[in-house]
Amino acid sequence: MSQTLVSPANAVFDAAAFDESVMYTYGRFPLALERGQGCVVWDTEGMAYLDFVAGIATCTLGHSHPALVEAVTDQVSKLQHVSNLYYIPLQGELAAWLTKNSCAESVFFCNSGAEANEGAIKLARKYGHTKLGIEGMPTILTANASFHGRTLATVTATGQPKYHKGFKPMVQGFDYVPYNDIEALKMKVASLNAYGPKVAAILLEPLQGEGGVNPGNAEYFKQVRQLCDETGMLLMMDEVQVGMGRSGKLWGHQQLEIEPDVFTLAKGLGGGFPIGALLCNSKADVFQPGDHASTFGGNPFVCRVGVTIAQTLEQENLLENVRERGEQLRAGLAELVAKYPAHLAGVRGWGLINGLVLQPDAAKAPIDIVKAALEEGLLLVPAGASVVRYVPPLVVSDSEVNGALAMTALALEKVFG
Ligand SMILES: *Cc1c(COP(=O)(O)O)cnc(C)c1O
Repeated sequence: MSQTLVSPANAVFDAAAFDESVMYTYGRFPLALERGQGCVVWDTEGMAYLDFVAGIATCTLGHSHPALVEAVTDQVSKLQHVSNLYYIPLQGELAAWLTKNSCAESVFFCNSGAEANEGAIKLARKYGHTKLGIEGMPTILTANASFHGRTLATVTATGQPKYHKGFKPMVQGFDYVPYNDIEALKMKVASLNAYGPKVAAILLEPLQGEGGVNPGNAEYFKQVRQLCDETGMLLMMDEVQVGMGRSGKLWGHQQLEIEPDVFTLAKGLGGGFPIGALLCNSKADVFQPGDHASTFGGNPFVCRVGVTIAQTLEQENLLENVRERGEQLRAGLAELVAKYPAHLAGVRGWGLINGLVLQPDAAKAPIDIVKAALEEGLLLVPAGASVVRYVPPLVVSDSEVNGALAMTALALEKVFG
């Protein structure tokens, strides 16, 4: 399916030279990307790939969307950055859109998902000390198989021991519970609140993305909300991967029909430009001047980007596209699952975050399917130990979804025979 387009001049890319000077923290595919348009990216040799990774659920409007190109070009010629020592009108505009369209009442801007979650962790601790009167060490609960980032506190919050290996001591004040298990949570909260250290907050993803595209259970979240109301602990949701429309609703917690006290955003909010946001209701709004800050956070350039993403979501009616393309994709993947029952266990997800799930005893790993798809001209990414993830731009078309399904079919034939 990959087509060769006009090759750029001097298209030779030297991977060995790259590896000599870039720190070796990523296992990379042998693919050097140079240009993108919509849901297609081109490598340095002019080969085209259908991009169902989207910078890992980040390029909301695909690549080089005209509205975004226009906005950033205009903004860069006006004002890129000033300090939060001053009022930044575009920051107010983006915050107003976010609060008008969610249960949150105020917003703090930063630069990434990890940084937004760091802010949530600090907020929860201050809330624990000042509102719940917890002396000593307020605990934040998170879920097994969660993912919250790679800074020291957020990697501690991440309930996956493989990410902790080599970095001990981890940050104090975290404990873990199984996801979607209300009895286990109730027991943990009761025992910590009786014997300490008391619980200040629980931080959960509405759908676990990195952990394997594992959706939250609405009944579980309803009961978590209830438990938080009874105990006073904050319900904090990490919406970094599913927020900003990817689930088919603006926020993942709307899928679960609950309202958190705090939630965090990043990936989709910037459509490829670095931005993060910490949002909360008035009950959780305990920060005072001097408590938290970020040099770049909420600067005019990136807030212009965020405002443009928000406007385009509305103008192009993208939530509807997300729901329809998501259904189309899941239906097509379900047909492929039926073709390989010995190898594939099913499809799960919401909107345009979906996982093709391998059988637990499958002889092949998600990475084998991802590599075979790459050869067909389709970019995919694994999630957890047994899932291939589909997270295309929210502007993906009917024919692009069909293209991705056709390439997946070819890849599966190669892998499973
Ligand atoms: C990607 C991700 C993060 C980390 O975001 P960064 O911008 O890489 O720091 C945190 N939480 C979730 C749910 C994510 O998917």
